[in-house]
Amino acid sequence: MWLKARAVEIFNEPGCAKNRAKSEKVRKQGCSKQVSPGAAAGGCAFDGARIALQPIVDVAHLVHGPIACEGNSWDNRHAASSGPTLYRTAFTTDINELDVIYGGERRLFRSLREIIEKYDPPAVFVYQTCVTALIGDDIDAVCKHASETFGKAIIPVNAPGFAGSKNFGNKLGGEAILDYVIGTREPAYKTPFDINLIGEYNLSGELWQIKPLFEALGIRILSCISGDARYSEIASAHRAKVNMVVCSKSMINVATKMQQRYGIPYFEGSFYGIGDMSDALRGAARLLVQQGAPDELVVRTEHLVKAEEARAWARIAPYRTRLDGKRVLLITGGVKSWSVLAALQETGLEIVGTSVKKSTDGDKERIKEIMGDDTRMVDNLTAREMYNMLRDAKADIMLSGGRSQFVALKARMPWLDVNQERCHAYAGYEGIVELVHEIDRAIHNPVWQQVRIPAPWDDEGEAPLERIIQFSGRIKRTPPREDGQDCERRLRAGASA
Ligand code: SF4
Repeated sequence: MWLKARAVEIFNEPGCAKNRAKSEKVRKQGCSKQVSPGAAAGGCAFDGARIALQPIVDVAHLVHGPIACEGNSWDNRHAASSGPTLYRTAFTTDINELDVIYGGERRLFRSLREIIEKYDPPAVFVYQTCVTALIGDDIDAVCKHASETFGKAIIPVNAPGFAGSKNFGNKLGGEAILDYVIGTREPAYKTPFDINLIGEYNLSGELWQIKPLFEALGIRILSCISGDARYSEIASAHRAKVNMVVCSKSMINVATKMQQRYGIPYFEGSFYGIGDMSDALRGAARLLVQQGAPDELVVRTEHLVKAEEARAWARIAPYRTRLDGKRVLLITGGVKSWSVLAALQETGLEIVGTSVKKSTDGDKERIKEIMGDDTRMVDNLTAREMYNMLRDAKADIMLSGGRSQFVALKARMPWLDVNQERCHAYAGYEGIVELVHEIDRAIHNPVWQQVRIPAPWDDEGEAPLERIIQFSGRIKRTPPREDGQDCERRLRAGASA
């Protein structure tokens, strides 16, 4: 019942434009869509809660369920830490058949005791999963009892996989910190320049690309929810003057509830692209001034923006001639579909298509503003359509998440990961330079010339020796081995025999 009530509350979230646009009846049905057979699906609600909370680096994250739930969600996003590494240790109660019959609450309690005795973390987050929710384990009660027994903050995260989509799980993760963490501690000191970042997960260290910019303005990131976060920072987040919502679809509920409970205003922004990074700095400065910070903050922000933009453009300039006229197919979702798009257009790349599958009406409006029309918006590109588009050379590179990488590789086209599993950090001024550098490296990688050479097979499926020799002659290779065993020599020896 609790979950149902929470779901209704989240579906009525006033900060979510997509939900607001729905009729009451449609809103009640939630955001999950039926997955069509054969299609790749996103994570479950539990996975979403883990994504939202696992970047809190100094706490233990304990998954109450079968071991595969932990394995499924462990460290799935390269969220980086500047210090503690406890968040990367996979803790699970690993329930078995007997627990399913008799209940897993005792096992959960014992696991909590073991973690606290061995690691003494400032807090433990306990994640509910499908099986333990279905057998009726009351993790709230166990966490409360353990918290009183051990004198530790033990936070139940009620987001079993069946509750809904990954995005819904992000929000349930947000509800857990709203209910049990935010507002439970006071910061060591307060300043008129304190902000929180909500929905920034420090993937591949992106937070460290933007933190120095805020620091240069004297703006303190009191807490980042939840990238590279410490428990005490999140617990004292209620003392910030302003909230910035970085990924609006993931934890907008945290921002709206903090506004209601603590009177903290929020704005939405993105760190991708030169223009958006500048707007984020300006937005933070403007709201801080409204909250009582000195007016000169706005002037200092403009100076910093001007200097940083000039520096970024100077570093991008050498790539512009190499990338001029190159066409990009962008398959990503939500806020990234316009923020990455803006970043790419800034560098002179042509966008042949962008997916809007997970975008809100607001996101689509932004895309239209950036591209001038909506003809290149694709709602739901199937793998085959993607493949055809790439094979017909309508694009020079595809930017997407890992799930569609094999479509690009099959079409022998360069591909770059811009989703959560990416290995490079693309935020801020530094990040856009890195993104352009990686696109350049991917497009001009010599491997593409080699893999596009037609195979030597003829129409009957035969491969005449002469054509194999010709073919192999066009492949760049390492120098012949001294022992004369390299493939081409053996082929030639065979041909003259
Ligand atoms: S759907 Fe359920 S069983 Fe599967 S990973 Fe998510 S929580 Fe675990």
